Amino acid sequence: MASLSVADGGASVPQRRHLVTEVPGPRSRALATRRAAAVAAGVAGTLPVFVDRAGGGILLDVDGNAFVDLGSGIAVTSVGNAAPEVVRAVRSQAGRFTHTCFMVTPYEEYVEVCEELARLTPGGHDKRSVLVNSGAEAVENAVKVARRATGRDAVVVLDHAYHGRTNLTMAMTAKAMPYKTGFGPFAGEVYRVPASYPLRDPAGLTGAQAAARATAMIDAQVGADQVACVVVEPILGEGGFVVPAAGFLPALATWCRDRGVLLVADEVQTGFARTGDWFACDDEGVVPDLVATAKGIAGGLPLGAVTGRAELMDAVHVGGLGGTYGGNPVACAAALATLRTYRDLDLVAAARRIGALVHDRLTDVAARTPAVAQVRGRGAMQAVELVRPGTLEPDPAAARRVAQECSRRGVLVLTCGTYGNVLRLLPPLVISVELLDDALDVLAAALVEDVTPG
Ligand SMILES: *Cc1c(COP(=O)(O)O)cnc(C)c1O
Repeated sequence: MASLSVADGGASVPQRRHLVTEVPGPRSRALATRRAAAVAAGVAGTLPVFVDRAGGGILLDVDGNAFVDLGSGIAVTSVGNAAPEVVRAVRSQAGRFTHTCFMVTPYEEYVEVCEELARLTPGGHDKRSVLVNSGAEAVENAVKVARRATGRDAVVVLDHAYHGRTNLTMAMTAKAMPYKTGFGPFAGEVYRVPASYPLRDPAGLTGAQAAARATAMIDAQVGADQVACVVVEPILGEGGFVVPAAGFLPALATWCRDRGVLLVADEVQTGFARTGDWFACDDEGVVPDLVATAKGIAGGLPLGAVTGRAELMDAVHVGGLGGTYGGNPVACAAALATLRTYRDLDLVAAARRIGALVHDRLTDVAARTPAVAQVRGRGAMQAVELVRPGTLEPDPAAARRVAQECSRRGVLVLTCGTYGNVLRLLPPLVISVELLDDALDVLAAALVEDVTPG
C-alpha cells in the first residue's frame, strides 16, 4: 500500500472504508437511546455511530462499519489512532506507576517532555515549560504567566478566535453559540480586534495592513502599555481554518516586541507537524514569547503545555503554576512516544504531501461547485468555505448536509467556522494515499451532488 508517510499506523485495523449496515446501525441506535437517558444533552455529537475500535485512519463502529477518519479526534491523533508506539508506551508506563502528582513527587518523563518542547517550539532561546491537561488550561496558564511577567492586565484576542470553554477562555473565544450563550458573566480585561480573513477582508488588504488595523484598535481602545499579551491562533481553527495574509503575524510580532507586549501563540490545533511545519508560526519564522500546545502532543492522551522564554516563565512565584493531574506520567509517556513517531515517520513531510494532494483535489472540485467560495489551509489542515453561489453569504446548512452525506457514505468530515459554513479536513498524518483518495472521492461527490433545497 502506497503511503504518504514512511509507515502506516494502526496495522491491526484494516485501512479501508467498509459499510455493513445503514448509518447508524442497530447497535449504535440502541446506544444512542442509552446515551440520551444518561449523558447531558449539552454534549454535542458529530458522527451518529459509537466507536468500537480504531487504528491509523479508520474508525470501526459497534455494528462493524469502517469509517475513514478525516478529523483525528479534532487534530489529536495525528500519529494515527492507537499508534503502536503510543500504545506500547502507555501500557509500559501504566504498569510502572499511574500518578504521583508532579508537584508532590517528580518523575523523569515530565522533565523529558519539557526538554522536547524546548527543542521543538520556535526560537533558539532558553525556555521553560509547565504541563497541564488540556488546551484551555494551556491558554489560561499562558495568560497567567503573561500577566505576572509584565505586571499588566489586558489580554487581546482576535475575531473568530477559539481558545476553549473555561471562564477565561470563553471570554477569549469569539463565537457566542454554542460556546458562550447563557454562560456569562465572563472574565474581564479581554479585548477583541479584527483578524486577517483574506476572503472577507477588503480586496488587496495586505497582512501588514490587517495587522495595522488590529494594532490601531489596541492603541485607541486599550492602550498598548496596558496589554500583557496578544493571543493568536497562527491559523484560526474552530473559527474557520482561516490562514492570515502573509505578513500579518510578523507585523503583529514586531508591534508586540516594540511595546513590551507578549505574543502568545495558541498552537493547540496547529501544532505538532499538522501544518507541514512543527508549528504554524515556523512558516513565517515568527517566534512567540509563549506557546500553548495540547491536541496533537500525546496521540490521544490528555496533555497540554505552555512553553516560553525562561525569564517570563520563571517570573511566576513557586507554587503559582501546576495542578493535580498536569503532566500525568501516562500522558507524558504517550507524548514522548508521539513526538518520536512524528520524527521517525517524518510526519512533517507527510503533512505537506497530504496538504498538496487535498488542496489539488478540493480546488478541482471547487471549479465545478459554485457554492465553494474558497479552498484554503496549510499542510494537513485544509478546508472549504461554502456560500450561497455568487455571494459571500455563508451557507451553514450546505456544510451540514455535505458532512452528513459523507458520514452516511463512511467518511468523517468536521465542520467549523464562526458561521458554521466551513468543511475542515484534519486527516491523521499516517493516512495512506489510497485511503485519503477514497475519502476525497466521497467528499467530492457529496459536494458536487449537493443541491440547495428550495
Ligand atoms: C481545541 C482548542 C483549544 C481548547 O483545547 P481543549 O483541550 O479542548 O481545552 C484551544 N485553542 C485552540 C486553538 C483549539 O483548537
